[in-house]
This record gives sequence, structure tokens and C-alpha cells, in this order.
Amino acid sequence: MTTPPICDYEDSDYQTSFWDKGGREYEDRTEAIALKRLLPMQGHLLLELGAGAGRNTPRYRGFERIVLVDYSRTQLEQAQQRLGTSDKYVYVAADVYRLPFVAGLFDAATMIRVLHHMADAPRALGQVKEVLGPDGVFILEYANKLNIKAILRYLLGRQQWSPFTLEPVEFVRLNFDFHPKAVRSWLEGLGFRIEKTLTLSHFRIGLLKRIVPTSILVFFDSLAQWTGVWWQLSPSVFVKARRVGRNARSIPPVGQDTILSYFKCPDCRYSPLVNKSDSLGCPGCGKKWGIRDGIYDFREPMN
Ligand SMILES: [Zn+2]
Repeated sequence: MTTPPICDYEDSDYQTSFWDKGGREYEDRTEAIALKRLLPMQGHLLLELGAGAGRNTPRYRGFERIVLVDYSRTQLEQAQQRLGTSDKYVYVAADVYRLPFVAGLFDAATMIRVLHHMADAPRALGQVKEVLGPDGVFILEYANKLNIKAILRYLLGRQQWSPFTLEPVEFVRLNFDFHPKAVRSWLEGLGFRIEKTLTLSHFRIGLLKRIVPTSILVFFDSLAQWTGVWWQLSPSVFVKARRVGRNARSIPPVGQDTILSYFKCPDCRYSPLVNKSDSLGCPGCGKKWGIRDGIYDFREPMN
């Protein structure tokens, strides 16, 4: 089965260069506020897609266990250093288009700054829907093509692409901005109900960030976030969606579930897999998926 190209952060110093030293404190703090407003206070099992180096993971502390997924192994190693190797965190290197989890597994899922890199966004969203349980909550962040800066640039003739049309714009290879209406229709088409929309990073302007103290920008952004229910003209949008309708929940009840019971073969979809200490074996197709230094690797089989 072919899957769309993947934006791989392997060996990237993204966490350091973009977040720690990149003057992104404002964006980071506004995201913390949005997550607090959207996430359920507590829950059993949360899926964090595109977890990277685990920047947001401590914000999900109300959940008993968090499964961190990233395509890049080195990003997950950084997350391990930050969060440790307790049973609370499960580290999985996998492709979002071929998620290795049984249907209906998770109580909640988050996908922040990830759709931005999806060449086939509806397909990735469909995978999320499949692994969410009944009434599962999905927190999605996406980059908004219909933002004030893009609108002004387009109207002044300084930008070729129109921010008003529904198709995604790929402004750099594997970097996409989306129209809010398109994202809504994909989610609703998949059977999600949108419960809340917040807009973020209203003041992501270099000059403002240099001259106005971050706390003041964060304060005004936290107020402006609520306007997301009426219009979305900021560069970043957060949506809280709920999976409606039933699906077959094939996992054991809370308390009796093991990490092994979470997985299915991403190639032939067989479950349960068989634990072979350094790998998980698939009785369906015979493939072996590696486990090394506490990271499950479902990108390529070992055999
Ligand atoms: Zn298989």
C-alpha cells in the first residue's frame, strides 16, 4: 500500500532551534492555554500524534497513560530524556497514515502542528477516527491559510495563491496551510462533531514580539482565542472534536489491558501481535516490528 510522502524530523534539532532558542515562548504559552481549555481534565489513554520531543506531553498529565507517536526516532529519544521511561509513557515510531493501533483504543487524541505536514490530510484524520473510542475527544491544531497577513498580502498583489479557496496551499515542500471550512468539512464527513474552536497566535508579528512583553501578548491572545467560535483569521486554529457514533471497541477493559494489546500490524492489520522481547511478531503476515531502547518501531519491518 502506498502512502503519501512524510516530513521526517529525524536528526533535527527542531526542539532547540525552533522552540528553545527561536523566540517561540509566546506561541508555546498560548498553546498551553488552549490545551487547558479544550482537553478533558482526566482520562485513561491519550494518543499524542507528532509528539516530537514531548514539549506538550506534560500538559496531558490528567491522563493515566500517554502514547507518543512520531515518525522520527531521534525526536522520541529526546522525549524519553525529558519524560523518562516509566509505564506512563509509551513511545512509538510510526507513520500516521498506517497507525499500528487497534480500533477504538483511545479516549482522546491530540495532533498539534502536525497536519501542517500532511500531504493527504483527510486520510490522516481518518486514521485518528479509527483508533478513537466512542465519544473520544480529538484536539486538532492546523495552520490557517485564511489569516489576516495572507489576506492582506494577496489583496496587495504580493502573494500568488488565494487564501479564500478551499484547497490546501503548500508554501514550502511538505508545509501546508488549510482553509478552516475545508478542515471542518473533513472532520464532519468522518463523523466528528466540532464542539469548540479557538484561534491562536493573533500577535505572531516579529516587531510586536520584540517590543511588547510576552506576558501581555499572551494575555490578549488568551482573550482573542474565544473569537474562534465566530471567525478564524489567525495563523493557528485549535479544534475540539468528538467522535460520534459507535465503533467496535476490541480492547480489554481498563485495568486488564496491556501495552501489547494496543497494537495491530500496520501492514496486514492483524492483532494481537506476539511479544518476542526485541520485537513484536505478526501472526498474520509474519513480519517483525522492532523494539529498541523502549521505543516500538512500526515504520519498517525487521524482516
Ligand atoms: Zn501483519
